[in-house]
Amino acid sequence: MNTPYLIRIDPASIKKNPHAGQTVFQQYIGTETEEVKVFYGNGWWHREVYHEGVKVSFSSVKVKPDQQVMEALPVGWHSSQSTKQLYNTIHTRRPLANYLFEYLDSQVKCRDCGAEFSWKKLEKDSRDDYDDRNESYWHTSNEICPECGEWDCCQLETEELDQATGLVEQI
Ligand SMILES: [Zn+2]
Repeated sequence: MNTPYLIRIDPASIKKNPHAGQTVFQQYIGTETEEVKVFYGNGWWHREVYHEGVKVSFSSVKVKPDQQVMEALPVGWHSSQSTKQLYNTIHTRRPLANYLFEYLDSQVKCRDCGAEFSWKKLEKDSRDDYDDRNESYWHTSNEICPECGEWDCCQLETEELDQATGLVEQI
């Protein structure tokens, strides 16, 4: 049995997360223009709404000819346009961590072909697989050898960061 490789946190990379504790994010997805066209005149008031140039609603109302507001408005079409910013609301599963950090680079060795390389070069994949009792299961590996393709070619242990204090846990 190979001993796991310890992947250490880079102490210089630890910084406070500006989004610590946040669970809701607004993701900008674009703009939408809305145009409202209104026709006044001849005792009618028509209103049409366009989204991105496509008519999405319209209504016509018969108004009393003596209505003061109608009389004060010039007869004809009046148009106004507005642009809305559209956002998606995203909820994270748990509050975001208090600190951000990166792991230091280090070498690992494939137990099958013996090649040595940076753990950052390890590949990931999932597939249907069979265990020792020939029962199928969904096999996910984050440690696939970039040289020979062996799955679970080494074991990694990652250093933990105390999310309350930002201190690296002594192992
Ligand atoms: Zn290998």
